[in-house]
Amino acid sequence: MDESALKFAERLVPPSYVSQGGEAMRARRSKVRQLLEQRKCPKEGWDDLTIELLLNDLASMDSNNFSHNCGVGEREGRVYSELVRRRHYRLAHGVGRSGDLAENQPKAAGSSLMYTLTNAIVLDLIRHMGVQKAASCLVVPMATGMSLTLCLLTLRQTRPQAKFVLWPRIDQKSCFKSIITAGFIPEIIENTLEAGGELRTDLAELERRVEKLGAENIAAIMTTTSCFAPRGIDRLEEVAGVCERRNIPHIINNAYGLQSSKCLHHIQQAARVGRVDAFVQSTDKNLMVPVGGSIVAGFDAKFIAQVGKTYPGRASNSPILDVFITLLSMGTEGYAKLSAQRKELKVHMTEGLQEVAHKHGLQVIESKNNPISVALTLPHGASDHNLTQLGSMLFRRGVSGTRVITATDNKTIAGHQFIGWGSHCNNYPYPYLTAAAGIGMENEDVKLFLERLGKCLGKTVVEGKLAQGGKEKEERGKEKKDIGKEEEKENCFSEEEEKENGFSEEEEKENGFSEEEEGRK
Ligand SMILES: *Cc1c(COP(=O)(O)O)cnc(C)c1O
Repeated sequence: MDESALKFAERLVPPSYVSQGGEAMRARRSKVRQLLEQRKCPKEGWDDLTIELLLNDLASMDSNNFSHNCGVGEREGRVYSELVRRRHYRLAHGVGRSGDLAENQPKAAGSSLMYTLTNAIVLDLIRHMGVQKAASCLVVPMATGMSLTLCLLTLRQTRPQAKFVLWPRIDQKSCFKSIITAGFIPEIIENTLEAGGELRTDLAELERRVEKLGAENIAAIMTTTSCFAPRGIDRLEEVAGVCERRNIPHIINNAYGLQSSKCLHHIQQAARVGRVDAFVQSTDKNLMVPVGGSIVAGFDAKFIAQVGKTYPGRASNSPILDVFITLLSMGTEGYAKLSAQRKELKVHMTEGLQEVAHKHGLQVIESKNNPISVALTLPHGASDHNLTQLGSMLFRRGVSGTRVITATDNKTIAGHQFIGWGSHCNNYPYPYLTAAAGIGMENEDVKLFLERLGKCLGKTVVEGKLAQGGKEKEERGKEKKDIGKEEEKENCFSEEEEKENGFSEEEEKENGFSEEEEGRK
């Protein structure tokens, strides 16, 4: 209702009432006006009604919702199901045009506006969180791995002769495959093992490799911030320096680093002292939205625009809308609060793990340069089988996200062999378990995790399953045909406890974890 409509309303309802209602409407409209005027993420989050009012306005600006519309093209934003239509707030035209993700869509002024605003408020958030120098960003409706590929493909256009991507080893499949999928040859730089057990970038080897291959043959160096402990953030500043001196593009995989001021601080510093072409982060890992999007950000708006132009065709607006709604609802204050809470829980989790470690004769691996993930050593003599059993035991007790690393797994990905896959290095000295404090985590999660971990470790270590290692276990296995489930139960939780924890055998079966999952995750 506009002001003249309110005048008519005064004929139907007492004017003093209308005046009060009109005031409330104006307050909401003023928030929307501010957003359009300043193009900044609101400091304080909006209520859902205000967000929905804006979304409805945007939808009514798209041609598929015009009441007089008569579509005769092959793509008219027609949606059969009302449920699907509502799921998208009636925005059906996606984002971009045939040759550019960031280009406005004439049939969809509302959708185009929504996308431009989303990019603007995400950039504002990135600056708020510590990368003040960031010049531009694009929310891309593909997860991080694919967006890394898109960045590499963009670089190919300006360096057609370059074949290699230098990649300080990080044992995560998506980022490695992003290099393969873009058609480049990965050059893996093994990490150095520091005192205390942390793994860091081997700068000397990186420079040797640049020398050997020739800077002009290298499409990019891809570094990583957020990763599983005991690997630390790559030495971004130093690598950025090499990139600057040797004129090599630098892409930073910041998958879940947007939530950590430390990761962002290093990105900002790297761009200050050297070269950073783009840093890429996941929307779901950082912004608490469903999987599907990522953010490509950088310090040169032209390069980011080039990335948008490399994307062929139009794209889904679904992951973008999720981010738009979420950031309006959270505000920069809300995000800062969640981020601070996460940081506190990391400390809390580390302290809790230190207690668990102390009790079981284990150790928390010191990984000063990892602000998100923590690693706890596991008994040295235990067999790989027993160690992975511990992982699946935890998983079955509802603990998701821990990884047991035996450091003896070998894996071949796209023809490249990785020794000790999962541990980011060829010969990590001991097996360990990792856990991460991610945004949105709550105190209760940490408490339950520590409790359940303590229980699983307690039973297994005390009764010798882990402590006595593989051989003993295998012998016992021969005697008893049915190893695995029966035995595990016996050694771990009593039936009473199982009930108390609320995991019936039925449920466990129903959850149906494949061997694959049990082993690895
Ligand atoms: C999550 C993640 C990626 C990207 O994975 P997607 O599934 O493509 O989002 C890449 N590298 C690291 C280190 C990650 O944690």
